[in-house]
Amino acid sequence: MKILSDYSLNELYTLLADFKKFRAKQIFDAIIQAKDYSETNIPKKMIEILKSEYILKPIEIYKVLTSKDGTKKYLLKLHDDNIVECVFLKQNYGNTICMSTQVGCRMGCKFCASTQNGLIRNLTAGEMLSTISVVNADNGKCTDRNFTNIVLMGSGEPFDNYDNVVKWLDLITDENGFNVSERNISISTCGLVDKIYKFADLKYNITLCVSLHATDDEMRKTIMPIANRYTINEIIDALKYYVSKNNRRVVFEYCLIKDLNDSFDCAKSLSVLTKGLNCHINVICLNQNGGSLKATTKKEAYAFVNKLNELGVSATLRRSQGSDIEGACGMLRAKTLKENN
Ligand code: SAH
Repeated sequence: MKILSDYSLNELYTLLADFKKFRAKQIFDAIIQAKDYSETNIPKKMIEILKSEYILKPIEIYKVLTSKDGTKKYLLKLHDDNIVECVFLKQNYGNTICMSTQVGCRMGCKFCASTQNGLIRNLTAGEMLSTISVVNADNGKCTDRNFTNIVLMGSGEPFDNYDNVVKWLDLITDENGFNVSERNISISTCGLVDKIYKFADLKYNITLCVSLHATDDEMRKTIMPIANRYTINEIIDALKYYVSKNNRRVVFEYCLIKDLNDSFDCAKSLSVLTKGLNCHINVICLNQNGGSLKATTKKEAYAFVNKLNELGVSATLRRSQGSDIEGACGMLRAKTLKENN
């Protein structure tokens, strides 16, 4: 079966050339509004023809948990029964959707729940578009856009699913659809250097975030296997190239882990590493998910950020939202998979 949301509007015009021209736009609108065949005004005959080959709505809401702070965590069921997560964050400056790019992940970061069962498969561009449609429709009128920002910070490594993510960028920014501004999209990568260069050349105006989490390669290797492939210096060079091409500030995510990367010396090393790079550091407190790694206390985290600021580094502590509903990366999916087995 093929998925209709994998097609751009132009591609739908070609695909559906045997039907009246406005049917393509009708299908495109149905995709954006998260409607299935039965909820459209498409003639039964046409539906029958399409249905035998094409899925219109590849994603359904399986479970929603709402946090005290309004954050909503979704478990979404794909047409093949795989499950992915998505988070809807209510924010004063515009709501944010945090979404997954893969079912599982093969990067193997020690602190991350998404990677515990490895990679199951990539999401297609259309499945990622439909993720947004379904969550958007659940948070207001399906004909409105009920969010401002999208961050690819859910399960999966976006640059390990590079082609589909780039195709999705074109779908989500299409002015006939959600028309999301590139400036309101962030992509987070664990640092696939070759893809950072490739992506820089496409000159999208999106914010690139890199999960750094360490100040030297040996430290990084103990928590992130990707550090065996690329050094921190290689990442920084790639980011300098990205900034030169896009003139956008890049963001580092730095997750504080007790007694590993949370000393003032680490803050100093970070200030040296990032010197001369137009960047911001998002400091995060580790969400403990049962492993051996422990979180740095809130108080120490604030002190770490203050130290960075003193050293002239732009850094903030990321406010944690939805922690009462297992809002962190892959935790809810991992728990549900365990319960269902
Ligand atoms: N694969 C991408 C995006 C997904 S993870 C990446 O590595 O950037 C999104 C962010 O959440 C990353 O910075 C990741 O390192 C972080 N993260 C994962 N598990 C976490 C945990 N238990 N506590 C805090 N942050 C976590």
